[in-house]
Amino acid sequence: MTDCPTAADRISDTRTGPDGGALETWIDQDLCTGDGLCVQVAPRVFGFDTDGLAYPRDPGGGLLQTPGSRAVVPSDQRQAVLDAARDCPGACIHLRPIG
Ligand code: SF4
Repeated sequence: MTDCPTAADRISDTRTGPDGGALETWIDQDLCTGDGLCVQVAPRVFGFDTDGLAYPRDPGGGLLQTPGSRAVVPSDQRQAVLDAARDCPGACIHLRPIG
């Protein structure tokens, strides 16, 4: 997997900050600690698979179980995802502007 930018790098980017546009997210499962912070903070966007690692959810709530799968962040989940990315102990929640 690719190097993971720091949370500060990701959140300070104006395109992926609180006032930016639509986002997609993905998780580098190689770095996920399985602590569950993202699942607690944004359960509509992230969930655990049976391997104990976090994965994003599709719009219907299903888990995208392929490592590195990308999911669009619902607008009402944007702040929760930003919070999860900022506090993720593995620094492995990625955000990218779309649209
Ligand atoms: S917060 Fe980060 S390290 Fe923790 S379970 Fe979620 S993706 Fe993995």
